[in-house]
Amino acid sequence: MVAVSESERCPFLLEEPHWVEDAQFPNCVKCNRRFDFSHRRHHCRRCGKIFCGKCCDYNVMLPRLSFVDPVRVCEECSHIAKREEEFFGRHLKTLCDGAYFIVDESEPLRFLCKLEHHSQRELLFECSDQDRAVHEPVILMKIVSAQLVASGDNSGVSGLILKYKQQDEMEEVRLAVVPSPAEHRKQSLTWLVAMQKAIKMLFEV
Ligand SMILES: [Zn+2]
Ligand SMILES: [Zn+2]
Repeated sequence: MVAVSESERCPFLLEEPHWVEDAQFPNCVKCNRRFDFSHRRHHCRRCGKIFCGKCCDYNVMLPRLSFVDPVRVCEECSHIAKREEEFFGRHLKTLCDGAYFIVDESEPLRFLCKLEHHSQRELLFECSDQDRAVHEPVILMKIVSAQLVASGDNSGVSGLILKYKQQDEMEEVRLAVVPSPAEHRKQSLTWLVAMQKAIKMLFEV
């Protein structure tokens, strides 16, 4: 097996949790019921903590841990897993499909912004005008902040400012939602929602 370094790993995948030692936990960490022959220990597959059967009675898919079939998790992890499943089933595809934005006031040029679909590590900016220098890719894990910009008339969102680190320098890229046509505008807004979900998943653990 080839070890994949942290920098090459898909940022949405997680390592399997460390399972806590049985002997250290005579009681369920949630309801405090003492374990015995009829009340056995169960490890949550997502957090690795030890629960009684009742407190660890949720069967869910864990796409971030690459489990193919549903596995047993605790209640807290079942809520997280639900959000993760929604992200993998819906938002990740939106990010990889990409959407059009005006990048750093590059008007009238439009860039197709998308998550690189294979490694899912970086955002790519493709410009229809080949002569024009394309914006450098932004590595997802180097993003420091993602701030939505409200439109002038407060009718919704008009863009996103991503701050990221590039060789120890702080850089930023401004993505403005395209005003028209309607379908591109809608796609851009949907992409921004997906991007927010991705950032939340990666940085608010
Ligand atoms: Zn319990
Ligand atoms: Zn858990």
